[in-house]
Amino acid sequence: MRLKDKVALITGGGSGIGYHTSLLFAKEGASVAVVDINDDAGKNTVQEIEKASGKAVYVHADISKASDCENMVKVAEETYGALHIVFNNAGISHANDDDAINTSEDVWDLTMAVNVKGVFLGCKYGIPALRRAGGGSIINTASFVASLGAATPQLAYTASKGAVLSMTRELATIHARENIRVNALCPGPLRTELLMKYLNTEEKKQRRLVHIPMGRFGEAEEIAYAVLYLASDESSFVTGTNFLVDGGITAAYVTPE
Ligand code: NAD
Repeated sequence: MRLKDKVALITGGGSGIGYHTSLLFAKEGASVAVVDINDDAGKNTVQEIEKASGKAVYVHADISKASDCENMVKVAEETYGALHIVFNNAGISHANDDDAINTSEDVWDLTMAVNVKGVFLGCKYGIPALRRAGGGSIINTASFVASLGAATPQLAYTASKGAVLSMTRELATIHARENIRVNALCPGPLRTELLMKYLNTEEKKQRRLVHIPMGRFGEAEEIAYAVLYLASDESSFVTGTNFLVDGGITAAYVTPE
C-alpha cells in the first residue's frame, strides 16, 4: 500500500477529484479527513470508504473561513494522531465569471475567497500539523489555466489559479528544509460537475475539446493517481512543481483533426 499509516486531509472530498482521491487514498492505506461544505456529499464519501473497510471521518468546513480551517486540521490530528498529507483541492468556478467588464466584484471576491484564501488557510493551519508529524506533502489544486489564457473568459477563476501556482512555488521554497513538500497539481479540462456545468452545451464542449490533443476530457480518477504520487514518498524529490495532468493541452499549438 502506497500510503500505509499516513493521515490525509482532502478538501472538496464530496465530489469530483476530491471524491476519487479520498477513495483511492483510503484504498492505499491512508486515514482520510474528508472536508466539504456539502455535508451529504462529504458523508457519502466517508460511507463509501467505510464500506470498502477504509478509515475516514467527515469534517464540515468552508475553506474560506479561518476558524473552519483551523478546526478541520484539529479534527484530523485528534482523530488519527497526526497529519501527513494536505490536499487543498476544493474550488469553485462561478457561472457569472466572465471578462473584466462583465465580472462583478462579488463574483471576483467569492472566487478569490475560496480558490486562493482557501488554499492559504489550508496551509496556514496545515503546515504546523505537518511540522508536528516531522514533515509531509501538500498538494494544491491549480489548473492548466494558470499557464494558458482562454478566449472563453473566466477571469476571476484564471487569476485565482495563477495565484495558487505562484503561492505553491514560494511555500515549497520556504518549507523545503523542514521535510515539507508543496506541489501544484494542474489538471486539464475534466468531465466533472464543475466543468460540465460551465460547458453546458455540446457546442461549448466541442469548442474546448478541439484544443486537447487526446480529443477527450480527463476523468477525475486520472487526477487522483497523480495526487497519489505527489502525496506518497515516491515523489520525495519533487517540490514546487507545476504538475500538469492535462491530455497535452498545454503542449499543443495546433491539435490534430
Ligand atoms: P467539483 O465541483 O466536482 O467538486 C468540488 C467540491 O468542493 C464540491 O464537493 C464542493 O462542495 C466543494 N467546495 C466548494 N466550495 C467549498 C468551500 N468553500 N469549502 C469547502 N468545500 C467546498 O469540482 P472538481 O472538478 O472536482 O474540482 C476540484 C478542483 O479541481 C477545483 O479546485 C477546481 O478548480 C480544480 N480543477 C478542475 C478542473 C475541471 O475541469 N473540473 C480543471 C482544473 C482544475
